[in-house]
Formats: sequence, C-alpha cells, structure tokens
Amino acid sequence: MTPRHDDDTLCGHELTAHGKALDAGCSGAKDYQAVCVCGWTQTGAVQASLAYAHARHVRYVRELVGVGGVF
Ligand SMILES: [Zn+2]
Ligand SMILES: [Zn+2]
Repeated sequence: MTPRHDDDTLCGHELTAHGKALDAGCSGAKDYQAVCVCGWTQTGAVQASLAYAHARHVRYVRELVGVGGVF
C-alpha cells in the first residue's frame, strides 16, 4: 500500500497514521495505491478497502490459474 500525493506521484515520505505529511517537501497522502506482483493496481482513499480489493483480486486470479498457480 503506497500513499500518493495530491499530484498523483507516489509518496515515500514518513506520514502520520492519518496520512498527514511530516516532511516539508511532502503534501501528505491524498489517497493510496495498491500494487500486486502481477501488475494489477488500484487506487482509493481508504487503505482497508484497497486491501480488501487486493485480496479479492488475488482470490480471483487464483481461481483463474487454479491451485498451484503463480501465487
Ligand atoms: Zn510525500
Ligand atoms: Zn495480481
């Protein structure tokens, strides 16, 4: 789960638990981007719903490739 700035660039700064900036060069987290090893990405404002979307995606991919697939 990677935070994103207001201009959609990825944030690698330290943030508070609420996504507020601690660094002077950081605008804080506007939203978050979830990335899967397969290249799937999704963005959203709520980390928990992104984690849920990723879990659902992984389950879907598992069903596609079958047990013992790439995941
Ligand atoms: Zn930042
Ligand atoms: Zn994936």
